[in-house]
Amino acid sequence: MPELRFNVVENAFRKKAATVEIPKCRPEEYFGKYVFGREKMFHYLDIATYKSLVNAIDNGAPLDRKVADKVAEGMRQWATELGVTHYTHWFQPLTEGTAEKHDSFMEPNGKGGMIEEFSGKLLVQQEPDASSFPNGGIRNTFEARGYSAWDPSSPVFVVDDTLCIPTIFIAYTGEALDYKAPLLRALSAVNKAATKVCHYFDPEVKKVAAYLGWEQEYFLVDEELYGARPDLLMTGRTLMGHEASKNQQLDDHYFGAIPQRVVAFMKDLEIQALQLGIPVKTRHNEVAPNQFELAPVFEECNLAVDHNMLIMSLMRNVARNHGFRVLLHEKPFKGVNGSGKHNNWSLGTDTGVLLMSPGKTTAENLRFITFVVNTLMAVYHHNGLIKASIMSADNAHRLGANEAPPAIISSFLGSQLSQVLAQIAECESTEDISLSGKQGMKLDIPQIPELMIDNTDRNRTSPFAFTGNRFEFRAVGSAANCASAMIALNTAVADQLNKFKSEVDALIATGESEMQAILKVIRGYIKECAPVCFDGNGYSEEWKQEAARRGLDCETSCPVIFDSYLRPESVAMFEATGVMTEKELKARNEVKWEMYTKKIQIEARVLGDLAMNHIIPVATEYQSRLIDNVHKMMDIYTLEKADKLSAENKRLIEEIAEHTLYITEHVEAMVEARKVANRIADEREKAVAYHDTIAPMLEQIRYHIDKLELIVDNRMWPLPKYRELLFVR
Ligand code: ADP
Ligand code: MG
Repeated sequence: MPELRFNVVENAFRKKAATVEIPKCRPEEYFGKYVFGREKMFHYLDIATYKSLVNAIDNGAPLDRKVADKVAEGMRQWATELGVTHYTHWFQPLTEGTAEKHDSFMEPNGKGGMIEEFSGKLLVQQEPDASSFPNGGIRNTFEARGYSAWDPSSPVFVVDDTLCIPTIFIAYTGEALDYKAPLLRALSAVNKAATKVCHYFDPEVKKVAAYLGWEQEYFLVDEELYGARPDLLMTGRTLMGHEASKNQQLDDHYFGAIPQRVVAFMKDLEIQALQLGIPVKTRHNEVAPNQFELAPVFEECNLAVDHNMLIMSLMRNVARNHGFRVLLHEKPFKGVNGSGKHNNWSLGTDTGVLLMSPGKTTAENLRFITFVVNTLMAVYHHNGLIKASIMSADNAHRLGANEAPPAIISSFLGSQLSQVLAQIAECESTEDISLSGKQGMKLDIPQIPELMIDNTDRNRTSPFAFTGNRFEFRAVGSAANCASAMIALNTAVADQLNKFKSEVDALIATGESEMQAILKVIRGYIKECAPVCFDGNGYSEEWKQEAARRGLDCETSCPVIFDSYLRPESVAMFEATGVMTEKELKARNEVKWEMYTKKIQIEARVLGDLAMNHIIPVATEYQSRLIDNVHKMMDIYTLEKADKLSAENKRLIEEIAEHTLYITEHVEAMVEARKVANRIADEREKAVAYHDTIAPMLEQIRYHIDKLELIVDNRMWPLPKYRELLFVR
């Protein structure tokens, strides 16, 4: 085994960058090559069909069967010219990935032969036998039917020989079994609510879209080193491994020159991403050694979510062609930064206005303040829920550790915006506020005509930071489906905007002017949501105490955090906006708890196996060598002298014995604890038991293994060490 370790380290060390096939044309020409976008629709569909499809995409208009048939035929024609033979409904079940089942276009032609065909029926709806996807009890196996239905707002695309059709996945009884269906409902809710609020400022607005720009962080590890680490292979993270003497202290990796092998990977990935219509733009080294980031230009939320799912699978494939494995896990290595996926979020109108951007006029700035403050209210009143939306067994390792946002959701506004809000809040009555004149005002909004919010005013410790024209939700995990966070956030904002509108309308009904009414409500809100605004150091111990005093959700146990989904105010919010029913929410929580338990269960098993089969035998062997040496000392020296010379080895022998004893005992205890937890029928209680009793044991056992790593002869240590995993490339 150690030979294996040395060999793989040496092989990895010698690897050169792979050659990348660069397309002959410029990126703008190959961008979207494999996407059935508008240009292709126009080319492959007749004009009436094209118009109906565009109407379906832009306005959600229904497509009738005949039109769908024509669309399907046009798609097939385009795809076959790219060599495509199969199609699949591509959906996002409640696992971490996407799902697909490929069928070929071949159909019997009735004369003993076959013909390639693709009908509107197959495009629009399918019934995958998907009884094995997590569903939280919504579908019993005897009524296991679910169906996938085409989402025309996300264009179909080609991967390899397959035409991929983005779909939602729902039960026959109508409940969502995936991420996309509730996301589309949440986006529709925020569209409706925000459009109505926009009408106070501009009656021409017909649609408000939510935008998402994600920043994907990841680690790359040489494939051979990865293969020699069963923990990485099975759980996506290292369950053991002593910190390297050097890690990120020198900050020499962040924004450093990108290593050659990695640049080749990035180029390859970017070309393929652009061909799939993913507008990738930014690449750089991240803080931890072998950690990197990729970011596209922001897009409409639904498409951005699909693109993120797509790029995660693309990254996995491309990495393999470069002899790497990509780690999307939130905390693959202890002691260095974990990986997140910052979700840059904003709202924008069909008239081209970014609602989180300050404007030039009084009305524009009041609109800006309105949307910012309502967002803060949403994040304040659904504080626990917003946190639950990004929580997972894996992300729990990251939050609150090494430069990750804390497990408390607060919002950083920066000094300028904070001042503006404070100024507005201080006005005692609406009479103090004049929007046009200059005398007697405490708040002179015309004096902040051109709000230039400085977006260099950053605070990296904030989980939900305002950054100039958007909020950056940083607590999202690197492996997560962004939809989870986007469902919670957009729904909360939609619900809040609806409340805001009814409060403003009630004031207007009493004779207030629109602008005065808006200001009055906003002023109350600024005071109300003040506890969620925090510009200080989110990593500090004092903040944890202060946040608790402010009544923010400070729960740290992952399974308990999920309870937020079922609080009466959450259920009311999801139901009022039509995003999810209580039944769906309950089912989803069952899935979350079950997933949590399974993750910890797998980690515990892997750690137990590795401890007993990889670590203990090696430690014992090394210990025997030391014992041997002690005996041999006695052969050649006097007893007294041998005793003196062997003192250090004897101490090590004892130390190894203590560690190995602790490990064996605790691995056994962990098995027993699992048995006890496994007998619990209730999924929530089981997850809580895994969190409270088993998860801490993983850490305790690891501590002793990591100590052994420092003692045992390097030549005998079987697993690639942190210094190798993190620095060889
Ligand atoms: P950083 O936060 O590291 O400075 P960037 O400036 O590269 O990151 O931007 C991060 C992401 O935010 C990008 O995907 C970018 O397109 C996106 N973004 C910029 N403006 C908006 C906006 N108004 N709404 C949503 N996303 C945005
Ligand atoms: Mg950012």
